[in-house]
Amino acid sequence: MSDLPSPSRPVPAPTAADSAGSDASAAPAPTPAPGAAALPLVMEEPRGRRKPPRHLADLTLDERAEHVSGLGQPGFRAKQLSTHYFSRLVDDPEEMTDLPAAQRAELVAALLPPLMTPLRTMEADRGTTRKTLWKLFDGALVESVLMRYPDRATVCVSSQAGCGMACPFCATGQGGLQRNMSTAEIVEQVVASARSLDRGEVPGGPGRVSNVVFMGMGEPLANFKAVIGAVRRLTDPAPSGLGMSARGVTVSTVGLVPRINQLAEEGIPVTLALSLHAPDDELRNELVPINTRFSVAETVEAAWNYARTTKRRVSIEYAMMRGINDQAERADLLADVLLSYGDWGWVHVNLIPLNPTPGSKWTASDPRDEREFVRRLEAKGIPTTVRDTRGREIDGACGQLAATEG
Ligand code: SAH
Repeated sequence: MSDLPSPSRPVPAPTAADSAGSDASAAPAPTPAPGAAALPLVMEEPRGRRKPPRHLADLTLDERAEHVSGLGQPGFRAKQLSTHYFSRLVDDPEEMTDLPAAQRAELVAALLPPLMTPLRTMEADRGTTRKTLWKLFDGALVESVLMRYPDRATVCVSSQAGCGMACPFCATGQGGLQRNMSTAEIVEQVVASARSLDRGEVPGGPGRVSNVVFMGMGEPLANFKAVIGAVRRLTDPAPSGLGMSARGVTVSTVGLVPRINQLAEEGIPVTLALSLHAPDDELRNELVPINTRFSVAETVEAAWNYARTTKRRVSIEYAMMRGINDQAERADLLADVLLSYGDWGWVHVNLIPLNPTPGSKWTASDPRDEREFVRRLEAKGIPTTVRDTRGREIDGACGQLAATEG
């Protein structure tokens, strides 16, 4: 993480006092929400956390075979275990009858240790939206959401317990970062949903996961290695992984510029979503504090570079907040910022009606303002969609995941 700013210590979000007297190119200081101190930006997880148990989903097929050989078992057992996990979606050792009964417990304990326990599942939309609260091995809590549509099923996964990016309108951001999740912990959220769909537990008959979005808790690019591992496991052909199409995977980021560039070099054409939320530095410094490190121009340039390198259209996420970022002139400015990199179809805008979070001073835009915002973007040739707010009533929509017990 050496190319990220001040990696070894929490970086305090700037305050008015900090920026006074700083160089003239610095953007104006953000105003903290009334009564609330600005939260610090945290790039690295706290030291000293225990590592989650190693699981086959953390390893490549070869590494799994090595591990099994180390236990004095034939290497092909790794493939059998992988088939149970990724293809048959089996989690009960009793069903793994192709493994010799005497060694089954040892193999399962070594390669398929329990990673998380569901504490609570909440349903909406007649059971087709399901949010699960998971307890990880060390008691950390995370949430994932399964959304089934007539033509697809999307799992929204968490990549960190908590989040260090401190966006003031997002529920997850308010609790800070507890720790990074492991590759297997990320993958297991998808496998659990795949299992429920496969077993016909979700209305609509047996089905499969077609899409995974890294839009749950956490900043995926701040946990780069584990997230890349998870993307590989999701897209590796069975039994190495789940065999999903990379096109079905979306990684959403606040805009860690060096990591966006690194993702572009990985050669896995996932969709990149950039949480922009404002087209100007002054406002974005407040809404997305990492903007004080990487400006709108640098961030949008990295997104454009990602589109150029991967040939995948980038999605600009923009949570519409009444009276804050939803003015007609900001729609025009947003279009101009994006168009400055050309109109070759590299980008589209996805407006998210702000989902309410406890204590937030912000509310969703007036529908008329939202329509005008869409109209202005489209008038300038920017394809624009408005995201649905599935799962809102179970606090399962974007930015509402807070993962508390009780
Ligand atoms: N850290 C990543 C992914 C997690 S959030 C990121 O920021 O992109 C997924 C999306 O939900 C982001 O675009 C985020 O800005 C948005 N979001 C957060 N809080 C929200 C809220 N209260 N209402 C609507 N969208 C919100």
